[in-house]
Amino acid sequence: MTGKEWSKLCKEHGVVVIDVNHKNMTHEDAIKFFDLLNTAMDYAFARKYDLETDQYEDYALPAGATYYEDDMNKKIACCECGKEITYGASYTSRIILDKYGFGYAVCKECYFKNDLKDIVKKG
Ligand SMILES: [Zn+2]
Repeated sequence: MTGKEWSKLCKEHGVVVIDVNHKNMTHEDAIKFFDLLNTAMDYAFARKYDLETDQYEDYALPAGATYYEDDMNKKIACCECGKEITYGASYTSRIILDKYGFGYAVCKECYFKNDLKDIVKKG
């Protein structure tokens, strides 16, 4: 596979590829590089918390999932079902978490169905 074919494939799959040649990097380039890396890591390290077993498992986020946006009207994907919702109408998940334990945006249906499972059961 050529470099051209590889980057085309990555683009088609929404993957950001970082070709690092640090010798040609400016300080600014390096900072951008780490920002990108952090974004990739955030996605890689999403976890799902099981309310019943008290365990975490790796979780693959749907494309468009987010935990913070400035724009309340921004269209995002529910972190659980992947449905398109506006950020302002989302809830904060108790079970889909980033590496710091912060909840991703979840739609109302998933929130009441999955995130409140333990509370609903007790009540
Ligand atoms: Zn949902």
